[in-house]
Amino acid sequence: MQTYQGSTTLNELSIGEKVITSDHRDIALKETLGTDKYRPERKETTRVGKFFTLVAILLPPLGILSAAKLLWDTDLHLIDIYVFAGFYILTGLGITVGYHRLFTHRAFETNILVKLALAILGAMTLQGPLTQWVSDHRMHHLMSDQKGDPHSPVPSGNKLKDHFMGLWHAHVGWMFKTKGLWRNVNYAEDIYSNKVLMAVDRLYLLWVLLSLLLPFGLGYIMTSNIQIGLESLIWGGLIRIFLFQHATFAVNSICHKFGRRQYQTKDNSRNQWLVALLTFGEGWHNNHHAFPRSARHGLGKLQIDVSWLVIKLLKNFKLAKSVYLPKENQIVKLSLRLPK
Ligand SMILES: [Zn+2]
Ligand SMILES: [Zn+2]
Repeated sequence: MQTYQGSTTLNELSIGEKVITSDHRDIALKETLGTDKYRPERKETTRVGKFFTLVAILLPPLGILSAAKLLWDTDLHLIDIYVFAGFYILTGLGITVGYHRLFTHRAFETNILVKLALAILGAMTLQGPLTQWVSDHRMHHLMSDQKGDPHSPVPSGNKLKDHFMGLWHAHVGWMFKTKGLWRNVNYAEDIYSNKVLMAVDRLYLLWVLLSLLLPFGLGYIMTSNIQIGLESLIWGGLIRIFLFQHATFAVNSICHKFGRRQYQTKDNSRNQWLVALLTFGEGWHNNHHAFPRSARHGLGKLQIDVSWLVIKLLKNFKLAKSVYLPKENQIVKLSLRLPK
């Protein structure tokens, strides 16, 4: 196993130039809420943000519904499955390995070409530009399940309705209320100071367009059949975007409500195996909150973590270095039960 490098604790979070350990989270929280520098930029998601969120969330299911007749009338072709699987895996890893573990948590270091590829692939999931995703997610870790967390499912009361509304808020509702509140240079200084990543960020709509056009182009070029091109667009574009979006959203909702807790954390994060399978390891979310900077989330032998396997592969090809992993004594210290 690789050695853990560069810090005394794996519980650290980087918020801009500040490095905060979760042991000191309560202090950091007070500072964050109490100073101008760490105050959110706005009270609510911008109108433009709400509009694009609505389009990004509704376009795939509405597109699938309007194409239902086309899908119903034709057999499923092998190419549909290949294009779906290929784009689901590649763009999904853009979020899990790229947006999340590399850019938000700096779990490893890599060269600019790999960064560029991961940033573009991540954008192709239609989960928002990199700067916004990173800022929102760093805030989630800093304030998790407390005031200021952009997407906690903690209910406002004890009625069934309150629990349901909490889950709804954490799954999609938050994007219309608290998305992008913290989007400024203080929370993603490392991204804002990288010219290449900022160029990718500004070209976000281009990657959205490519996310739909590439599956269509692949299907069409491989068969010279426009009908199969459209099927590829539906499977490799719309259905793939829809499924991966909701799998990722489930990390915010399901994994803060249902599942097993394996490590002590100050939040309600949980491990959920099905979400982990659909999100390449991100569903081992309690492990992740216990060791935010770890490149590996599935810490137990049976906890399949495809994103970690990819990072290991990158390391074997010398494309990943400074890979962070928890030490045995750190794991034991926070353990509520032994990993399987
Ligand atoms: Zn979480
Ligand atoms: Zn995280």
